[in-house]
Amino acid sequence: MPMPMARAVTGPSPFRGPLVRPGDDAYEASRRVWNGSVDRSPELIAYCTGTADVMAAVRYATTGPGAGRPLAVRSGGHSFPGLSVCDGGTVIDLSLMKGVRVDPLARTVRAQAGVLLGALDHETQAFGLAVPAGIVTHTGLAGLTLGGGIGWLMRKYGLTVDQLLSADVVTADGSLVTASADGNPDLFWALRGGGGNFGVVTGFEFRLNPVGPVVLAGPVVWRTADSARLLRFYREWITDVPDGLTTAVVHRRAPALPYVPEELRGEHVVMVVCCYAGPVEEGERVVRPLREWGPPPVLDLCAPKPFTEHQSMFDPSFPHGRWYYFRSLDVERLTDEVIDTTAEHAARIVSPYTAFPVFQLGGAVSRVGAEETAFGGRSAGHTFNINATCADAAGFAEERAWARGLWSALTPHQTGVYANFLMEEGQERVRQAYGPRTYARLREVKRHYDPANVFRLNQNVPPG
Ligand code: FAD
Repeated sequence: MPMPMARAVTGPSPFRGPLVRPGDDAYEASRRVWNGSVDRSPELIAYCTGTADVMAAVRYATTGPGAGRPLAVRSGGHSFPGLSVCDGGTVIDLSLMKGVRVDPLARTVRAQAGVLLGALDHETQAFGLAVPAGIVTHTGLAGLTLGGGIGWLMRKYGLTVDQLLSADVVTADGSLVTASADGNPDLFWALRGGGGNFGVVTGFEFRLNPVGPVVLAGPVVWRTADSARLLRFYREWITDVPDGLTTAVVHRRAPALPYVPEELRGEHVVMVVCCYAGPVEEGERVVRPLREWGPPPVLDLCAPKPFTEHQSMFDPSFPHGRWYYFRSLDVERLTDEVIDTTAEHAARIVSPYTAFPVFQLGGAVSRVGAEETAFGGRSAGHTFNINATCADAAGFAEERAWARGLWSALTPHQTGVYANFLMEEGQERVRQAYGPRTYARLREVKRHYDPANVFRLNQNVPPG
């Protein structure tokens, strides 16, 4: 019988949380991330229980035994390309740090970095309040916030970063700084869109907004054969809908979910998913033209419901462990060419799991100045998140080729890209996500807080 390999016993010190290494029972599950196509094997996964653990872990990975090896930071583990896990280095995992404290009178909330979106909504909606964030409850608040944060409330209240009041950050030298408008404002600016480049965020403080708790929300569905006509109507309709309405157009094959009639399952469909953040009756008036533009919908699930129920609607479509591949881009408008290209390719989706949203931006997102935060897409009209999804490796190469084909056909219309929707696509794409001025400014902030580029497993902005 082979002898067990000698294992390093060193780790961050002092450290309270669990440390998981190759050979430990928990290792296989611990090294996995949301995207099942990611298969990396770190030397150490350090589950931090608080800021002190994070400081120790950063020191371990920079000046301790972990120095010179990759360092990944993981909160929700939902990075599309799996940048929150590495081969042969350290993973600083924040998932045990799940504290949330709402101050209903001040309308603020403090959340630790390991909080997932569903947990945040659960706490804030108890007071009829919310932080605008993403559309799947098991996404990590930390990674989503640091890239910008788009979702169902953004046209009314702005991005997740637009609610940020302060953040606690452990920087590359292992010290803790708080960034806000009044303290370390350069770092505060960079954290609002610049990703995980500047250190490990241990906690956030956000402004809260009144939402629901009941909203008019859900998808109105047609067959993909009607997509080109629907999208021509849609682009006119959305030009003067109120900011309370945020929509996304999703193309896919209808899933086998309880609320989808048998005869529709597997059929190619297009849906306009709505969320009206205002009185339900007002929402009904706003959404009526969509329901009446042409052929009757094959399914209409846009109805009054608790905001938290709408927030979890997409959860079953994006479970952990499937194989995912993404190509993304922003466009200014849905021109005839963009519409026809989208509709044509959507009709060729093969996998029952591929479902790609095109988010409607504008409203409050566009009213924040392009240089007020590091988020790059303030003036985009729509952001495409073309994903190819399979249960596992079977058929993945073909579905990925489909995603690349649609993306390539749309690139002549590309105005930018959302940093959180990038795969590992190289420096030029990161620069494209921010634009030249913001990118140059981010490099300066990076030089100040992380001159050695310790935090580089991210959409990396190298120090200026
Ligand atoms: P992780 O994989 O844990 O982290 C991603 C990266 O963020 C890390 O590599 C690191 O660079 C950085 N990071 C994470 N935690 C910290 C920290 N505490 N301190 C410093 N850096 C850190 N985005 C939207 O805007 N809106 C959506 O509606 C939306 N929906 C999504 C749905 C699904 C199912 C998925 C998989 C992603 C979605 N995204 C959405 C994209 C999402 O914003 C990014 O994938 C984001 O990085 C996820 O954050 P995380 O904490 O879960 O990821």
